[in-house]
Amino acid sequence: MKLDSMYQEVILDHYKHPHGRGLRDGDAEVHHVNPTCGDEITLRVKLDGSKIVDVSYEGQGCSISQASASVLNDLVVGRELEDALKVQEVFLELMQSKGKVEPDDAMEEVLEDAVAFAGVSKYPARVKCALLSWMAWKDATSQALANGTARETA
Ligand code: ZN
Repeated sequence: MKLDSMYQEVILDHYKHPHGRGLRDGDAEVHHVNPTCGDEITLRVKLDGSKIVDVSYEGQGCSISQASASVLNDLVVGRELEDALKVQEVFLELMQSKGKVEPDDAMEEVLEDAVAFAGVSKYPARVKCALLSWMAWKDATSQALANGTARETA
């Protein structure tokens, strides 16, 4: 199917040219692993009130896990936390659809390049790869919020 190969190219492109990769200043840092595939990610979140100033990361693993971190960076940096969480919910819904959800225009508008992972949802083992960075981001965000306004520099 043509759409699938187009999606694959989007994923490969993010894998080869990751957006926002590298660790920078953050309010919280987490390290998540996906043992079934061997993917790893270290991720930092920088917040300014309810705004996401930066999501920086280093990782290794399969193209899906690493491309997903790049797409995450695109989708959440510069956004209000509330809006970013809505994007995350839509992505989660797509990834848990077992290939049954065909992304429509509305979904594509919200998810942008993340719709490229639609085909991945058919493969439960790969879903974990795609969600690794998003789970790490949620974890880091809640830790950053728990740290509150302390604003300690790590
Ligand atoms: Zn993987």
